[in-house]
Amino acid sequence: MNCPECQSTKIIKYGHTHYGKPRFRCTHCGRQFVENPSRGPINEATRIMIDKMLLERLAAAAIARITGVSERWLQIYVNQKYDEVPQQVEVRKKKLAN
Ligand SMILES: [Zn+2]
Repeated sequence: MNCPECQSTKIIKYGHTHYGKPRFRCTHCGRQFVENPSRGPINEATRIMIDKMLLERLAAAAIARITGVSERWLQIYVNQKYDEVPQQVEVRKKKLAN
């Protein structure tokens, strides 16, 4: 892993973000960053909105369009929910065309 600022490899672990992602700090330039920041986590507000839309039985494609998450991410999220509370969240599984 390299520092996104100076490309140094002198990286140390530096706690965690609010979302539990490990945070790192470059000892060369002092820059703090998380791994793969471009693939940032879906924020809590968006997740809550998605949960509500799932309960309203909106189609995954519609939810993805409205919230701006990828359908692939949504599918994984829904599958995880399925595992957690199978009786409460019923979402028709749709095969994604890869
Ligand atoms: Zn650096």
